[in-house]
Amino acid sequence: MALYSHSKLSTFEQCKLKYQMKYINKLKPDFEKTIESHLGTCVHDSLEWLYAEVLRGKVPSLDQLVLKYQEIWGESYNEEFSIAKAGMKEENYFEKGIKFIVDYYIKHQPFNDGTIALEKRIYVELHPDFPHKIMGFIDRLVLNPKTGEYEIHDYKTASTMPDKEKVEADRQLALYSIAIKQTYGADKPVLLTWHYLNHNMQIFSRRTDKQLEELKEDIMNLIRKIESTKEFGANISKLCEWCEYNKSCPVFGKKNIQKI
Ligand code: SF4
Repeated sequence: MALYSHSKLSTFEQCKLKYQMKYINKLKPDFEKTIESHLGTCVHDSLEWLYAEVLRGKVPSLDQLVLKYQEIWGESYNEEFSIAKAGMKEENYFEKGIKFIVDYYIKHQPFNDGTIALEKRIYVELHPDFPHKIMGFIDRLVLNPKTGEYEIHDYKTASTMPDKEKVEADRQLALYSIAIKQTYGADKPVLLTWHYLNHNMQIFSRRTDKQLEELKEDIMNLIRKIESTKEFGANISKLCEWCEYNKSCPVFGKKNIQKI
């Protein structure tokens, strides 16, 4: 039995060569993190801390949350983080994060929406006879006391908002909702909620049982394809700029990096 994750599946779809370097050959990446992923981690960790305090019965002040974010950023910042975007510096990303958490705090205080778990690890069984499972982490799980619905909350720090079509096709939270139904009951309603922090907006979606069954089929087919792949070719795309193997990649290579 192998464990797959949403990012492992997406890596295969993005570039098979990257998949081979990362998950089969387990090569050390050329750089550990991009500044964008550092920003994402610091914001996620700050909001996790905020809700952990709320679950302990204390609601931190906005100043305390900002101080926590500063502390997390400082403790984990590394001068070697890759900054691919021209004209951007460390402080620009740091300040973006401050804005994200301040806007979030003002909009969602006093945070009493029924949070029941943070960074909840989930496993998705795709079929009783299928040997592989999906593993993932839910940023925040809510049991809404007013609607009785489970809500899967996910924080996004990307600068662009997806369109409706993309949201309806998003499979990460849909997969997680299968795990929630497998844990709490197939008849339980689940609401998918994305927080687009750069826009201070939420996007919602629900999936029917039929859609979830189709998704399980699609994922099993994708895993079968991965397991039978022998050739791991490169796929050059815009995403190469953020690929953690782009310096050692024999196709993209150092030369291209210097052109960016
Ligand atoms: S740099 Fe691009 S082509 Fe090379 S491994 Fe990464 S994603 Fe694939």
